Amino acid sequence: MKQETIDMVLKFRDDRNWRQFHNPKDLAISVSLEAAELLEVFQWSADDLICENKREKIKEELADVVNYCILMADACGLDLDEIVQAKVKRNSEKYPVELAYGNKSKYTELKKEKA
Ligand SMILES: [Mg+2]
Repeated sequence: MKQETIDMVLKFRDDRNWRQFHNPKDLAISVSLEAAELLEVFQWSADDLICENKREKIKEELADVVNYCILMADACGLDLDEIVQAKVKRNSEKYPVELAYGNKSKYTELKKEKA
């Protein structure tokens, strides 16, 4: 995540004196609500495998999700790059390429399938 982007999101919050409202609980709720708005873009859609005609709405809602993630990370003193990279490393251990390549099974099933 570019520091410039993080600073822009935090400045938007601070210019409005909204930090006082940004506790972890309400930010977690906001991440989830914005994720639901992203999902809503596809509700009742027959052609939900493409995003061409939904691109603008997807951009808006995805940005809302990421903005709240930035605010939540700040409220909890977390570095987004660090936690995302750590998660990818953990997922790499749960989903080794030799077991998971081209296979969408959950990690708990992968080793059973191999055996
Ligand atoms: Mg939204």
